[in-house]
Amino acid sequence: MKYIGAHVSASGGVSRAPQNAQAIGAQAFALFTKNQRQWLAAPLAADEIERFAATCRDLGYTPDKILPHDSYLINLGHPQAGPLQKSRDAFIGEMQRCQQLGLQMLNFHPGAHLQQLSEQECLARIAESINQALENSEGVTAVIENTAGQGSMVGHRFEQLAEIIARIKDQARAGVCLDTCHLFAAGYDLREPAAYEETMQAFASIVGYGYLRGMHVNDAKKPLGSRVDRHAPIGKGFLGLEAFRLLMQDERLNGIPLILETPEPERWPEEIALLYDLANNT
Ligand SMILES: [Zn+2]
Ligand SMILES: [Zn+2]
Repeated sequence: MKYIGAHVSASGGVSRAPQNAQAIGAQAFALFTKNQRQWLAAPLAADEIERFAATCRDLGYTPDKILPHDSYLINLGHPQAGPLQKSRDAFIGEMQRCQQLGLQMLNFHPGAHLQQLSEQECLARIAESINQALENSEGVTAVIENTAGQGSMVGHRFEQLAEIIARIKDQARAGVCLDTCHLFAAGYDLREPAAYEETMQAFASIVGYGYLRGMHVNDAKKPLGSRVDRHAPIGKGFLGLEAFRLLMQDERLNGIPLILETPEPERWPEEIALLYDLANNT
């Protein structure tokens, strides 16, 4: 069974997100639990937490189908002490918000070395940030997203994801989210069966499917290996429909949230329907 959805708006409060997901035919969803462009947020009110839980329950969204995303401001591998601490504090805050909401995962981009640290040092710093966050929260898995490798972002190679995980103390609470646009931008092809299988086998042997907690399903506006993070609507980019057919036919992706982050939200109902068609037509 495929659980397909999108990163829906939580504007007006997190408890709006499940209704926004249902309105577009989603069986899974992603959300920000606070304004993603600001460092600080008011604490979640008890009645809002209750409303969120009740709405998710009523609409059938269990925590394993909900993949919250952290703020874009956070850089867990920041080379400078001050901004690093600010990022770590904010990330712990986000983990605790997820915990309060009864959620099980927090999805985040690993970080960037800003040309001031070696890649190795940056990866070690990110792992230490994750360890601190896991020590200061309970029941929430840190779900590392692969990146497009834009600028000095690390996490675009499977080896880098594996290196971070190897340094995490509580690996039962470590996970990975694979973004199809980021994979392609990083040089991992998905466009025909042999290339798709090669990419997925590389992930299996270097990281392991045991860590896969979700996927971001996006087409790519730039060609293979561009290292540019620009999403396109499904079937309208360089990945093309065949890649998404292969993805939707892949039984290894059953049971986890498959989340659209495509640029035109008005297309989401038809994109979700299209992906379900690809999943169901064998
Ligand atoms: Zn993504
Ligand atoms: Zn992206």
